[in-house]
Amino acid sequence: MTKAQRQHYDKIARLGCSLCRFVLKIEDSPCHLHHIRRAGKRKDAPVIGLCPIHHQGSNTGIHGLGRKAFEELYSTTEEELLELTLAIL
Ligand SMILES: [Zn+2]
Ligand SMILES: [Zn+2]
Repeated sequence: MTKAQRQHYDKIARLGCSLCRFVLKIEDSPCHLHHIRRAGKRKDAPVIGLCPIHHQGSNTGIHGLGRKAFEELYSTTEEELLELTLAIL
């Protein structure tokens, strides 16, 4: 990982969970970095912050629910959370 990439990830992590922040209006939740899957290599995948509940929770998290159900439940998309995140970095 390059230094620039690490700094970028640090900034995203400092914003906390993007779903908590932008959808639930809760700031500074603890967060993991979640890679958004697109075609191509995982190391080049864009990342968003998600708290443990919204990342891996079995009925609340993107990995527990699957992306489609997650996006329906919260009326947002990974790509939208990414856009909102990048807009305030
Ligand atoms: Zn969250
Ligand atoms: Zn993830």
